[in-house]
Amino acid sequence: MKFLKKPKKSLGQNFLIDKNIINKILKVGNINKNSTVIEIGPGYGNLTEHIISMNPKKIIAIEKDKELVSFLNEKFKNYKNIQIINSDILSLMRKKKFNSKNVVVFGNLPYNISTKILASFIMLDKWPPWYEILIFMFQKEVADRISAKSHTKEYGRLSILSNWRLEIKKHFDISKNCFVPKPKINSTLLSFKPKINKLFNLKNSKNLEMVTRVLFSNRRKMINKNFKKLFLNNKSAIQNLNINLSARPEELSCETYYKIAMQYEKLSD
Ligand code: SAH
Repeated sequence: MKFLKKPKKSLGQNFLIDKNIINKILKVGNINKNSTVIEIGPGYGNLTEHIISMNPKKIIAIEKDKELVSFLNEKFKNYKNIQIINSDILSLMRKKKFNSKNVVVFGNLPYNISTKILASFIMLDKWPPWYEILIFMFQKEVADRISAKSHTKEYGRLSILSNWRLEIKKHFDISKNCFVPKPKINSTLLSFKPKINKLFNLKNSKNLEMVTRVLFSNRRKMINKNFKKLFLNNKSAIQNLNINLSARPEELSCETYYKIAMQYEKLSD
């Protein structure tokens, strides 16, 4: 593969070159002629060109690197259904209202901000959100943390936040040899579908962030002290929740954290 210029580490530029993997990723998206596809960080358009060939209604490709945007504009100049936006996905998530239907979001994410990007898709004000499925590639270790169950060392804030509003599915690992430049570690493809029923409805998702931040501030210690700090030693709130205060943070289930966050929100109203 020919580069316009040296890939930028700061933008997490590792380009996917393996066609088999690209096809496997696309299958997860189930794209049809009614789909709107959003691609985060299209790079040289290796995945984008396969998406286009499936003829979706629209593709919105969001790329931060200006020179790559010029390259993509040239590469796809004959297609009417693609819009290439030169922007930072994180600032776009704060500002832009996406209001299409049947939205599939793909991203071979820049690794340095991959969890921030995922969080921005979880912490939206409106739920169910405007997208139908997210198909994101992460470093394997990060993917393991996202999909971790309680009582494991990978389990933590990331698993709890993701599982709150999203159905997480692990698809397959991708060898580092499928990228140029070759990263140090392998990747994993995950997909996420918004949960709609049986949700713990918080008014402000920041409350769950807060609760998990405080309770996970020391993984090895019992939650006792931090728990009391969180509830300002409010005995009835603590009793209502009926939680074993000598547990370690990783021993509480996701649902327990959601209940704690609901109670916390009630008190801070
Ligand atoms: N999808 C491509 C490229 C993946 S590398 C492929 O698989 O070949 C990650 C891409 O994300 C790079 O093109 C990088 O420039 C872009 N990027 C990095 N930070 C970004 C941000 N904040 N917003 C949008 N794109 C970003």
